[in-house]
Amino acid sequence: MENTTPQILDLFRLDNKIALITGAATGLGAAIATALAQAGASVAVHGNRRPADETAASITSFGATAAAFQADLSSTTGAEELFTQVKAKFGRVDILINNAGTIIRNPAEDYTLEDWQQVLQVNLTSVFQLSQLAARDMITRSTPGQNVGKIVNIASLLSFQGGIRVPAYTASKGGVAQLTKAFANEWAPKGIQVNAIAPGYIATTNTEALQADETRNRQILERIPAGRWGVPQDLAGAALYLSSPASNYVTGTILTVDGGWMGR
Ligand code: NAP
Repeated sequence: MENTTPQILDLFRLDNKIALITGAATGLGAAIATALAQAGASVAVHGNRRPADETAASITSFGATAAAFQADLSSTTGAEELFTQVKAKFGRVDILINNAGTIIRNPAEDYTLEDWQQVLQVNLTSVFQLSQLAARDMITRSTPGQNVGKIVNIASLLSFQGGIRVPAYTASKGGVAQLTKAFANEWAPKGIQVNAIAPGYIATTNTEALQADETRNRQILERIPAGRWGVPQDLAGAALYLSSPASNYVTGTILTVDGGWMGR
């Protein structure tokens, strides 16, 4: 009799899947897009001020399909504009990686409403909007008992901790963790798994100021059990797992990828 049990590595394949990765011009988003494309997905890579064309070109150079899109997610219409462009090009979205994010540092007592709203719109409201658009699209293909789509949100250690001088970022990432669970509960019966990754301290443009601050850099390194900053590639395995059939019974979880920070 033929053995129909899937081979474990096959469960990590993303052949014939369409993935949309926001904020994929650089950093974590570019590394995640590359990983998903290496696993067989066609990828829509989004950028804003920095276009994602280079990420798309690097992915097509190894034979995968990629296209770059631009949208400003600090505008309330940005998410819909982006989703419409991606649908027009690829026809559907099977995997959504909500990675775009911004941070504005200021003492809490001086934090302006404008900065608060900007950070909340990019980091939380656009995640709500894009996830809703993607889920509506996925639900049209949903059949009972079948997995139809994946949403992976990029949270933060500040989904759990308060941080200093980043009240809007902390509130937004706390919200991302909670929204992940709320969506997971409602969409599990429809075959959509919604999970998040909480990266630790990863060397990207987002954290350049922290890396350059000698005192903070030393304090951070002393607290990371792994003894080093992460690199974007460190997120690739977690992102692939949560995007692939290997995680079909995993939903509503926040997976820390932090060199051991949270366990300390
Ligand atoms: P990054 O290289 O600066 O990437 C951030 C991405 O988000 C960029 O592509 C950026 O585009 C995009 N973005 C920012 N504002 C946007 C807007 N208004 N509209 C659309 N896109 C916008 O930094 P990263 O470290 O890779 O960050 C990726 C994600 O990981 C973020 O959600 C961040 O909060 C999260 N994270 C990072 C760390 C870390 O240690 N690096 C830790 C925890 C969580 P433009 O700048 O080109 O506009």
